[in-house]
Amino acid sequence: MTADRAPEFQFGGRLSLDLTWTLRYRAVWPTALLASPDDLSAWLDAAGLPAPATPAGRDLADARALRESIYRAASALIDRHAIAPDDRDTINHRAAQPPPSPTLHTDGTRRLVAPENRELPAALSAIARDVIDLLTVHDDRLRRCEGPSCSLLFHDSSRPGTRRWCSTTRCGNKVNTKAYRARRSTPNGESTEQPRL
Ligand SMILES: [Zn+2]
Repeated sequence: MTADRAPEFQFGGRLSLDLTWTLRYRAVWPTALLASPDDLSAWLDAAGLPAPATPAGRDLADARALRESIYRAASALIDRHAIAPDDRDTINHRAAQPPPSPTLHTDGTRRLVAPENRELPAALSAIARDVIDLLTVHDDRLRRCEGPSCSLLFHDSSRPGTRRWCSTTRCGNKVNTKAYRARRSTPNGESTEQPRL
């Protein structure tokens, strides 16, 4: 049910990391937001990328493969490990394809378009080019969310570069609420006040 699933998609401003966000809670209860080819088309649409008119299972497999290579490569950089050659090859292979073209739409907005039947390779190229930029230009701004059970990767574009959570409203609040409860707890562990959210 793509229509029901689409609102769950979240975007943080970097295509490559946004794609990795389609597998949530990896460490505790992996939740797949790209469960079908139609989900992939819905995500591509929501991301402003060209989407195949009739997505196939192979398209979904290709997108997931790139997503996992991005996740592992970015995680390796955060953890100061070497990026696996297979992941580097997958990213480079996708980036070598022609990317979508920006066009000025009649309503004044910018759209990314690709030739018919080349929508997915073009979209994956844009995503792969984004992660190459992240891994080489903004590598000191890659972060893993410190939220409980989260583990999402994000790009810290804040001026001081001290961001800790994928989202202040979601994971930041959970951490702050937990700390608040701990401060307000009685010696036997019972909270004396409701946290202010
Ligand atoms: Zn988070």
